[in-house]
Amino acid sequence: MSHRYAVFGNPVAHSRSPEIHQAFARQGYDEVTYERIEAPRDDFAGAVKAFFINGGNGANVTLPFKEEAFRLCDRTTERARRAEAVNTLWRDQDHGLHGDNTDGAGLVRDMRRNHHWQIEGTRILILGAGGAVRGVLGPLLEEEPDEIVIANRTVDKADALAEHFNGAGIPVYGCGLEELRGHFDVVINSISAGLDGELPPLPEALFSQRGCAYDMLYGAGDTAFVAWARPKAAEVADGLGMLVEQAAESWFMWRGARPDTAPVIRMLRGETA
Ligand code: NDP
Repeated sequence: MSHRYAVFGNPVAHSRSPEIHQAFARQGYDEVTYERIEAPRDDFAGAVKAFFINGGNGANVTLPFKEEAFRLCDRTTERARRAEAVNTLWRDQDHGLHGDNTDGAGLVRDMRRNHHWQIEGTRILILGAGGAVRGVLGPLLEEEPDEIVIANRTVDKADALAEHFNGAGIPVYGCGLEELRGHFDVVINSISAGLDGELPPLPEALFSQRGCAYDMLYGAGDTAFVAWARPKAAEVADGLGMLVEQAAESWFMWRGARPDTAPVIRMLRGETA
């Protein structure tokens, strides 16, 4: 039996999700079709409704619709409610539209399982305070770091996120990029690359002795942040692994089985045919 999935976004032509899910399906699962759907910015709800009426089994959601997807759902997982954003949808007859957010689980799984980085007991710095950060803060806090600092160009957004996620017994602070002080064990970048692909100025001494740098962004070669961090950090990683792990978590929500992510990450990096 063939299963029908899709990713909704606008724009969405760049999405690598179809490749990833087709690769999962080739690991011995039923055949899948997986489309990119560019939903109109003013009718995401209509596009989602039409997809499920026409036999869709599950969908991913990317920019700029994750918050709207959350509001559209009849049921959401705890981690989606913490993030107030949804990147995974499915329907059932009795309970309507379900939503989950798998971004944070994907990031944590990539850092811990694929890169063997420690999160517990560390000082974490997050650069940026957009939707992606909102999605990953809950799962990061569950790993029990000592503290998390969120630094953003617009300080109010960093402060608002810190306030929203404080209260779990682990301090979360917000600040501006120019106020950054001290050393961190894990620095996670989520500042979207500008047109010139350049980073805002950052302090040279940001990493502790064994400090690691993770860029949620990914590209054909080193991202601007990975290139900047490579000579300063003990280890660096881009967000391709997170992309595959969040997809695998979506697959798990839809199918109840976990695909093997390692060969898919290698395939996307062009390391295997
Ligand atoms: P948002 O648009 O919600 O947030 C963008 C962030 O970048 C904001 O904090 C914004 O600051 C900051 N920013 C943008 N331009 C500049 C600049 N010139 N100088 C300083 N700060 C800047 O995007 P998301 O949070 O949804 O996504 C962030 C990135 O993470 C994207 O590139 C996305 O592709 C990636 N991502 C990767 C995933 C993966 O699986 N690997 C999953 C999800 C996201 P301000 O608030 O001041 O505007």
